[in-house]
Amino acid sequence: MLFHLKVRNSLLLMPLIVIVLFHIIICTEAESAQLNQSVLVVLVEFNDVTHTYSATSPEKSFFSDNTKSVSNFYNKISSGNFIINRATDDYPIQNNNNGIIGWINLEQNHPNCMNFSNTPCYQSLVTTAFQAIGPYIDLAKFDTNIDGIISRDELSVIFVIAGYELAAHDAESSITGPFVYAHQYVLDTPVILNGKQISNYALFGEKHDDHQATIGVIVHELGHLMLRLPDLYDITKTSKGAGPFDFILNP
Ligand SMILES: [Zn+2]
Repeated sequence: MLFHLKVRNSLLLMPLIVIVLFHIIICTEAESAQLNQSVLVVLVEFNDVTHTYSATSPEKSFFSDNTKSVSNFYNKISSGNFIINRATDDYPIQNNNNGIIGWINLEQNHPNCMNFSNTPCYQSLVTTAFQAIGPYIDLAKFDTNIDGIISRDELSVIFVIAGYELAAHDAESSITGPFVYAHQYVLDTPVILNGKQISNYALFGEKHDDHQATIGVIVHELGHLMLRLPDLYDITKTSKGAGPFDFILNP
């Protein structure tokens, strides 16, 4: 199943049901044990669409200790039991090992994949993006069970795509893209880097119309990727889903 996102204005709404699920998954299972999750953020841009915000901005959104960040969010709702770690990388700008690779140019134009159902477009984009990070990370470091496959538990990779996020696009806006649609999924054909297979990913567009993507979208997609959390809004449009208690406010 392709997990995806609907975003409204209340991206920072406290996700009560997800918190409950989270506590069931993490806290009751391991009252005293701390779970650590390596996360790699890959910033990708294109020949015709380059980034708007420097790498420092998404780095703060993901990893900052002092602001509203994704790592702070998961730390707090797990009572300190779920810790997001910056993946060790070899990207030479800023500090190595800060968990951020990019911005890197994919040497192609933005594919403007639009809706998440455009699977071939996303498979191609993500395959190219994974291949581009090869020089900057040693996946062998993450293959803790030495099975040749980098599972999402061993390393969760999320791509920030220069351009716009369709799920957060206001139809009244004059912005015409290019867009991607935030989602979490898996490649049909894994990419092999350093002899290790990788195929699980999440992605989202860099901009929500006139501003940088907020952490709601990131928390949501990483919830799918890292913890296999389900969508709780109504994806069939036959009910209100979990309504305002959903991770993201139900439309
Ligand atoms: Zn979702």
